[in-house]
Amino acid sequence: MDFELTEEQRLFQETAQQVAEKEITPIAERVDESGQFPRETIAQLGELGFMGVAVPQEYGGAGADTVCYVLALEEISRACASHGVIMSVNNSLYCEPVLRFGMEEQKRRFLAPVASGKSMGCFCLSEPGAGSDAANQQTTARREGDWYVLNGTKNFITNGNEADYAIVFATVNKALKHKGICAFAVERGTPGFTVAHLEKKLGIRGSSCAQLTFDNCRVSAENLLGKEGEGFKIALATLDGGRIGIAAQAVGIARAALEASRDYSKQRIQFGKPIAANQAIQFMLADMATEIDAARLLTLNAALLKDRGLRHTKESSMAKLYASEVAMRASIKGVQIFGGYGYMMDYPAQRFMRDAKITEIYEGTSEVQRMVIASALLS
Ligand SMILES: Cc1cc2nc3c(=O)[nH]c(=O)nc-3n(C[C@H](O)[C@H](O)[C@H](O)COP(=O)(O)OP(=O)(O)OC[C@H]3O[C@@H](n4cnc5c(N)ncnc54)[C@H](O)[C@@H]3O)c2cc1C
Repeated sequence: MDFELTEEQRLFQETAQQVAEKEITPIAERVDESGQFPRETIAQLGELGFMGVAVPQEYGGAGADTVCYVLALEEISRACASHGVIMSVNNSLYCEPVLRFGMEEQKRRFLAPVASGKSMGCFCLSEPGAGSDAANQQTTARREGDWYVLNGTKNFITNGNEADYAIVFATVNKALKHKGICAFAVERGTPGFTVAHLEKKLGIRGSSCAQLTFDNCRVSAENLLGKEGEGFKIALATLDGGRIGIAAQAVGIARAALEASRDYSKQRIQFGKPIAANQAIQFMLADMATEIDAARLLTLNAALLKDRGLRHTKESSMAKLYASEVAMRASIKGVQIFGGYGYMMDYPAQRFMRDAKITEIYEGTSEVQRMVIASALLS
């Protein structure tokens, strides 16, 4: 594996570092506390090409690669995990399937506005009864001439409150199980498409998490992505890429926990010396740093495979599984290193821990990642 970054990859990383430090870090605590969607800074990320990193320029994107994307996403998530997930969903879960499975006209219509950051996208797979078992879709798509009529409820949809466009999965025939599932691009404002409820969350509080309902929502057959019945394949292929993004988000959160803990441990004096002088603290920092580097390498490996057009299902799951558990371990250690102050809302250690937890759950729980990895090993 070549560990040397290209000029373009270095530029993406540096630009992300700069915008994160100047614009995002200063507002991260406020975004978490208020739970408000950070519109202005997300618009800035759009102007930098960060909302459609790997989308060709002709469709409004930055025309870069997945490695650029994960390098940038790590930096943004290190500053604020809410910005990280908003960026990740827009890039991986919305732009990617439209780019990969959309027809030319669909790319012009549904991809260009979102990849350029002028509009926002979301991905609607989960339902109240279809979480880990995503093939158990209850949302229906009834064909009526040149139209499909959607009916159902989608749960926990990131960017659901802001999205101008949604990828919606629905089945034309439940008896066909996963082979009946279709993917549609649906525009906000289509009659019958409603934001029904906004969730209150433990972490990533600046991103929205919405329940969306489709009540006799008529969409043109021109909005069907791929062929009828290809929806589940599209969802799984999309998640292969999405999990690389969540891995990068987790690495960013873990790094934030490590760096804050390192700095705090050097200045907190107990027993007449900095707590960093104790081997117990040093060993925690050493473990955090080692695991973070390993998680980043797994993430870059999956990104590189994707950029080379190679199969990366197992590697994406490994990166997501490991990086998310590293983020959780590192952020718990961070709270411990901060002691009582780690438990206080005035210090960021608790935010990293709350933000880290979701990376073990969305885009497939850790248990689901282990199922994917084991299935690849045993097939
Ligand atoms: C903040 C947030 C944002 C989200 N954003 C989106 C989004 O943008 N789009 C979208 O479509 N979805 C989104 N989701 C949904 C997310 O992907 C699901 O929550 C997740 O896949 C788990 O589904 P579930 O919550 O229904 O849990 P369940 O599937 O009910 O799982 C509950 C527990 O059982 C375990 N479990 C289930 N089946 C098995 C099994 N066979 N073997 C072993 N253990 C098992 C799980 O690992 C978990 O620990 C989001 C969720 C959250 C919380």
